[in-house]
Amino acid sequence: MRILVVEDEHRIAQTIKKGLEQERYAVDIAFDGASGFDLASSEDYDLIILDRMLPEMDGTQICAKLRASKIHTPILILTAKSQTADKIEGLDAGADDYLTKPFSFEELLARIRALSRRPKQSVHTSLVTGALTLNTQEFQTFYKDVPIQLSSKEYSILEYLMRNQGKVISKQQIIDHVWDFDADVLPNTVEVTIKNIRNKIEEPFPHANKIIKTIRGFGYRIR
Ligand code: CA
Repeated sequence: MRILVVEDEHRIAQTIKKGLEQERYAVDIAFDGASGFDLASSEDYDLIILDRMLPEMDGTQICAKLRASKIHTPILILTAKSQTADKIEGLDAGADDYLTKPFSFEELLARIRALSRRPKQSVHTSLVTGALTLNTQEFQTFYKDVPIQLSSKEYSILEYLMRNQGKVISKQQIIDHVWDFDADVLPNTVEVTIKNIRNKIEEPFPHANKIIKTIRGFGYRIR
């Protein structure tokens, strides 16, 4: 999952980024409202965390503008105020949830998980395809109940493909959802990482059906 954090307080923004990256999310930061809106409207994010008080364009305005541009990415607004009026204003502008500062990181993570499984995902914490299971809370992968040790990027790619089961996903979509905006990633890196995932699953299970199918010229699909 790739998350955009729009927050003008650099220390808070970096703390959130660092914490989320430890949880396997790819994270981009914008430090003001205008660049936040630009990134949110030009890149494909799975979730946007918006600080309410921002220079140039505040969080509520960004939210309303994104919704007006038909961008329906889940939005979580961070607000220093806890007054009801501010919450209502944020939700009316199209935000999905809000969190009052200061907040605990655990609560932020719980809200991100809740938003990311809406509306497609149910409350389940595992993704299953055939004999392959991902526990999305513990970041563990199992094939026929045998744990498979994946690196953080290998896990993220597999999770993204499994969340989009049955759909053909291009290498560019994988790059956009698994790596940061700053990361200089070539399609070849995706190919190599996919190859590593396959090896890790297929080596101990030489008779396993091919889990990740290559769609030549397009990308990959998981059954
Ligand atoms: Ca602020």
